[in-house]
Amino acid sequence: MATATKSKPKSSSNGHAAFTQAQTTIFDQVDLPKDPDNLYTQTVSVMLHAAEMMNLPHYLQLILAQPKNEIMVHFPVKMDNGKHELFKGYRVQHNNALGPYKGGLRFHPDVHLDDVKSLAFLMTMKCSLVGVPYGGGKGGIKVDSRKHSKTEMEHIVRRFTAAIAHNIGPDYDIPAPDVGSNSQHMAWIADTYSFLSEIGGDNPAAVITGKPVEYGGSLGREKATGQGVVDTLVEMLPELKLKPEKCTFSVLGYGNVGSWSGKIFQDKGAKMIAVADHTGFIRNDKGIDAFDLDVHVKKTGGVKGFAKATSISKEEFYKTKVDVFIPAALEQMIQEPEAEMITCRVVAEGANAPTTPAGERVLMAKGIEVLPAILCNAGGVTVSYFEWVQNKTFQSWDLEYVDRELNKHMVRAAQKTRKARQEFKCDLRTAAYIAALQRLKEAYEVRGIFP
Ligand code: NAD
Repeated sequence: MATATKSKPKSSSNGHAAFTQAQTTIFDQVDLPKDPDNLYTQTVSVMLHAAEMMNLPHYLQLILAQPKNEIMVHFPVKMDNGKHELFKGYRVQHNNALGPYKGGLRFHPDVHLDDVKSLAFLMTMKCSLVGVPYGGGKGGIKVDSRKHSKTEMEHIVRRFTAAIAHNIGPDYDIPAPDVGSNSQHMAWIADTYSFLSEIGGDNPAAVITGKPVEYGGSLGREKATGQGVVDTLVEMLPELKLKPEKCTFSVLGYGNVGSWSGKIFQDKGAKMIAVADHTGFIRNDKGIDAFDLDVHVKKTGGVKGFAKATSISKEEFYKTKVDVFIPAALEQMIQEPEAEMITCRVVAEGANAPTTPAGERVLMAKGIEVLPAILCNAGGVTVSYFEWVQNKTFQSWDLEYVDRELNKHMVRAAQKTRKARQEFKCDLRTAAYIAALQRLKEAYEVRGIFP
């Protein structure tokens, strides 16, 4: 069975050329590996490129190049068969200069520290760019949630919550869902934290967002990241002389972000013609109905076997000519080989860090515009912020209000990015980082560094 696995990283020499002397010096000063295939190094190098361009003070480059706290826990859980298993969990708190740490929890068998550090770092940048009063964090459990019963997952999630309970809090660090985790998991975390904590404030359930609407969740949160992807596309496509209603698109990953991006973009008149996930690759040039595919995926666990499309190869998927390509699966999936095959006008990054620096160089050489993740997928954290505000003030907002406020944040972030691009004459990713770093710089200037 063909699956969309990551390409093997290319030999290092290729990526090394991408590090400037200034970046190498920072890596040495903060003790980071100068490995061009390392996701964290890649993530930081992109920030340092923007930092150099805008002359970000050296002390801020150092601070941002490493997270404040890296927490790793091991905890035992009794399985349905009566035997115990030991699980590994993480919470990385990258920066809280702008507000409490904020970021999702990933439940995936391949989760490891460098992924979590990268994702926490990206949250700092994203929250700054989209204008919410949060810093960046991320966490996860090394677990394949699909392989455990509901009872086992409940015990794993509750026990993980107990292990990190002293390191999170409604005013300190507020997790949320990510790959492999969902609103039910968030409800168990909120309940466990409320039970364990007497210091959770008036509403301890505000310790986490992405909860079910019945238990303090916000209307519009489930679709928020996909909604934000489409809001960004609608804002940015006209300057590329593209009309959403005339666009064709393909989606890599059909989970929360991929399926909602697909459904909402289709509602704008765009036509989805190819989709891939961990089960396979499908295509139909006449259009794949995003809602029908969502039903199929929820029923069967993946896109494979969808009757109203043809099964294709990985190469055919990437080579399918579309206007917009939406990666919405995992990190580093667009490396040089995939970038060589992609034939589109715009890559709209729904996933975090889906494009490696080497992959991006290929896309740029082909004239493909990349809407960077810290802009494009910031809708999730924005509506998480709305959920937190509603929890803290005991309010409940209607969907129209949530969507309108989300759109305002997305459009403002897109405008800031565009302005930075004009000022610094750079690509959109560098521009988004410059806009994000500018807000952090202003905060540090007035806060100073303790003592
Ligand atoms: P999800 O678990 O709902 O979906 C993940 C999708 O990726 C699934 O369709 C899965 O089949 C696919 N996938 C996994 N491995 C794959 C492989 N090897 N090849 C092809 N497809 C593969 O996760 P999600 O919440 O939709 O998150 C997707 C991405 O978006 C992640 O990078 C996540 O960090 C990012 N993101 C999520 C949110 C959110 O609100 N959920 C917010 C911002 C960013």
